[in-house]
Amino acid sequence: MKLLTLNFLTCAVKTCKTQAASFPLHPKDSELEILETDMNLPFLRNILPRLMWEELRTICKELGLPDLPPSPPTPADLIEGPEPAPDAASETELVPSQTARDLHRVLLETCIQEGKLVCGCCGHEYAVKEGVANFLLPGHLV
Ligand SMILES: [Zn+2]
Repeated sequence: MKLLTLNFLTCAVKTCKTQAASFPLHPKDSELEILETDMNLPFLRNILPRLMWEELRTICKELGLPDLPPSPPTPADLIEGPEPAPDAASETELVPSQTARDLHRVLLETCIQEGKLVCGCCGHEYAVKEGVANFLLPGHLV
């Protein structure tokens, strides 16, 4: 699973839903793999405002990845040169900056293949196998 996915996951246990500590889930015993994919710059620029940056930094630290900058980049930081005028041709002609390439690598190419995701609230461990997290809960937790 891509690290970007962790940005949108919380613990599935009902009593955790409203607890701040249930997000983000904390990777544990993770085996990472880099799966290269084409950069989609408009997509990256679109999701930027929805990234929980502080939590993403925490996850990177927990995985032993290089530190992300303390504050999130802006959409303008993701392209080389000035922001095009709104009526300019499509965004696909934009040139990604190094910041964009770094972010693409972390969010979309760095994948947890095996390991666990641990809820900071209840401590439940979700297994990740072959890149897929299992969010089915045992009956007593549903
Ligand atoms: Zn939980």
